[in-house]
Amino acid sequence: MEKIALFPGSFDPFTNGHLDIVRRGAELFDQLIIAIGHNSQKQRYLPLPWMLEQLTQLFSTDARISVRSYEGLTAEFARQQGARYLLRGLRNTLDFEYENAIAQGNRHICPDLETVFLPPTPALAAVSSTIIRDIHRHGGDVRTLVPFELPARP
Ligand code: ADP
Repeated sequence: MEKIALFPGSFDPFTNGHLDIVRRGAELFDQLIIAIGHNSQKQRYLPLPWMLEQLTQLFSTDARISVRSYEGLTAEFARQQGARYLLRGLRNTLDFEYENAIAQGNRHICPDLETVFLPPTPALAAVSSTIIRDIHRHGGDVRTLVPFELPARP
């Protein structure tokens, strides 16, 4: 049976840290679905259709990787996609508290869904969407932190 993993996140924006998790995750599973979560209660920094388009282009030559967006429960979307694994990155103890709580919640909803954590590559451990948004918002250069050029400040 094919091993399908979902890599869910806000990806606002998708960073070189996320890219590292995707590349390494793609070696572990047969199919990896990058799933951009849409939360209608939360205002994004960069529009979801733009991010979807960038990621679709970025991974267009790799048949193992696909990109989708979803709304609602991650575990439910994973089930719809036939994914039995959730892939997440674990950078530090703060991530652990948050990620562990989410993983337990997902297990509660869907006992067959296994969460798999990858530690960051050390050089990318400090790369976060929050920091990139802050730098970009104030006109700083983020080109070495993201795998595509960001649009002019929103
Ligand atoms: P969310 O809003 O769901 O936390 P993010 O887009 O911020 O989504 O992150 C998605 C996943 O990527 C999370 O598991 C996060 O811990 C992981 N991640 C973010 N940055 C890095 C990084 N630099 N290295 C490894 N994992 C990372």
